[in-house]
Amino acid sequence: MRIGQGFDVHAFGDGDHVMLGGVRIAHDRGLLAHSDGDVVLHALCDAMLGALALGDIGLHFPPSDDRWKDSDSREFLRQCKAMLAERGWRLGNADVTIVCEAPRIAPHAEAMRATIASDLGVGVDAIGLKATTSEGLGFTGRGEGIAALATCLLLRDG
Ligand SMILES: [Zn+2]
Repeated sequence: MRIGQGFDVHAFGDGDHVMLGGVRIAHDRGLLAHSDGDVVLHALCDAMLGALALGDIGLHFPPSDDRWKDSDSREFLRQCKAMLAERGWRLGNADVTIVCEAPRIAPHAEAMRATIASDLGVGVDAIGLKATTSEGLGFTGRGEGIAALATCLLLRDG
């Protein structure tokens, strides 16, 4: 078994929606990023890459590369899964925590779990997803951005 963790933050900017866990959520602001700013998927990719000591998504999908501009982060997730598979590993389970005051996550949590599970080829019961506020404290509390943390366990294939 291998374990990995990931953490990501993006700041709010102008926009009318955010992408979280591969799900589009209407919001009065967007997330500033080279890609779609999906902190959930970025943290999850980092956890999966970290579990195999393969660096982070900045290394594999550098913001300096125009190929990844405005890209769908689900593509990062699927490529990370492929990197695991090439090395003989698969996801056992993952657990994600989103930290923000808004938007509300609960109405979208099941859609995010289903999207992530589908991209990773695992059952929905292998994907934990929850959200919390930071009680008005810090940058998430002031509504300046969204943070996400992810932990995953990889299992040797076969
Ligand atoms: Zn990110």
